[in-house]
Amino acid sequence: MKQKVAVIGGGLAGLSAAARLSHYGFDVTLLEKAPKLGGRAITIPVKGFHFNFGAHAIYGRDTSILRKYEHELGLKVDWADFSPKKAHYDLGTFTTPVPATLEGLMQTKVLDAQNKLRFAYDIFKTISTMERGEEGILIGDYLKKEPPQVRDFLLTLGSSNFFTNEPEKIPSPLFFRYYRRLFSTRKPVAYIRGGWQSIIEGLESILLRNGGKIVSKEKIESVVVENGAVRSVIGKENQYDADHFVFCVPPSVLVSLFESTPYRELLAEYNRYESNQVVVYDIGLQKRIESPFTYIYHKGERIFITDISYYDPTCIPEGGQLMQAVAYLNKEEINANKMDEKLEHIEFVYDKHFPGWRDLLAAKRISKKATVQEIKTIDDQRLMPVKFYSLLNAYFAGDWCEGEGQLSELSFSSAYEVTKRIMEQTPSPVVV
Ligand SMILES: Cc1cc2nc3c(=O)[nH]c(=O)nc-3n(C[C@H](O)[C@H](O)[C@H](O)COP(=O)(O)OP(=O)(O)OC[C@H]3O[C@@H](n4cnc5c(N)ncnc54)[C@H](O)[C@@H]3O)c2cc1C
Repeated sequence: MKQKVAVIGGGLAGLSAAARLSHYGFDVTLLEKAPKLGGRAITIPVKGFHFNFGAHAIYGRDTSILRKYEHELGLKVDWADFSPKKAHYDLGTFTTPVPATLEGLMQTKVLDAQNKLRFAYDIFKTISTMERGEEGILIGDYLKKEPPQVRDFLLTLGSSNFFTNEPEKIPSPLFFRYYRRLFSTRKPVAYIRGGWQSIIEGLESILLRNGGKIVSKEKIESVVVENGAVRSVIGKENQYDADHFVFCVPPSVLVSLFESTPYRELLAEYNRYESNQVVVYDIGLQKRIESPFTYIYHKGERIFITDISYYDPTCIPEGGQLMQAVAYLNKEEINANKMDEKLEHIEFVYDKHFPGWRDLLAAKRISKKATVQEIKTIDDQRLMPVKFYSLLNAYFAGDWCEGEGQLSELSFSSAYEVTKRIMEQTPSPVVV
């Protein structure tokens, strides 16, 4: 008899968990409330442009979980590596290369010669684990021992990788763990031709090919728990029983699903944490604007623009261009309703680096408060474990869960860990 698994939530975490378990012989049912799979990775087509809800940068691709899915599951990923030579920082009065490679480090003006050496030494210390940060100390404080230029540069890096305008609040051990992997990789940033949509379709077809079932428009409303184990999840009309349950829905949803159980309080902790939100302003242009940059980071406004169509030509009609601008938001800015102000700042950065864009505008997509990560990794905020001791057969995955990296890497890595644990739990060998 195949072991039954119900996966709740069809975003990147749910889809990848469902695909992997079905590949290894489990009887998987994926339950998704929306009509389409993908969650925050969905693509919105407008006038021939494919606006991806979130960007599709994958950090450290050679050691990423997606890479494992390529090898293990046969997932097709059409990688498009980031061009470091076309990545610049805008420092207000001038632009300078992002030191993403040795060549970029030599050329950049963000660090002078002495500080370049110091930064190179810091990379060595981070990779060799001589530098690990300290529990209870935030990176802003931890880096006070560094020369101001190096500290400032490391915080700028943190800002762009963690999508935050308050990088000084990142816990120092997390900061160094993150950069240990990123500094060691030969592929620090990569995009995917076909965008997230190609990953969603690839995982979906692996699931279906292995006999998995997908039930869309199925909003799960509650769970039945008996003797410390989940027995079933309940949708509008149907009840789903299984041996294992993988919950890939955000903490706010978990709290309501477990509302009438003793586990509500356990989950409520993660619902109290602040999420990481940004303003997104995507533009689709009829014609390409030639520019030396495919990525520009405006340090003063903490806004970055990526020429998505440079890396993924499938997202535009012929001859067009699609760019995405992201401005980070902190809690105070959200409370003070600064989102419209951020949009003006973004337009200013578009004007500065892509003059003429307004005349070529064919389509746009604005999101004033998009959630890039359900739990922001700052201060004492903690990511949710993938498994609780007191709940036997329930597992959790998503970008609010413990795992490797940030953003979607957390979705993929927590899902991977969950599937590994379920496989280890299975009494008889699974069919491959
Ligand atoms: C603007 C922006 C830019 C981004 N850029 C990047 C980037 O460059 N690189 C990167 O790695 N990541 C990026 N991300 C983050 C990435 O998109 C997310 O980390 C990832 O998509 C989260 O996937 P998930 O499966 O963990 O969660 P979600 O996508 O939130 O999935 C949860 C799923 O559960 C479903 N659901 C909810 N409630 C129920 C219910 N009751 N019953 C059934 N189903 C339910 C939802 O419909 C959804 O499909 C970006 C995000 C944004 C918004």
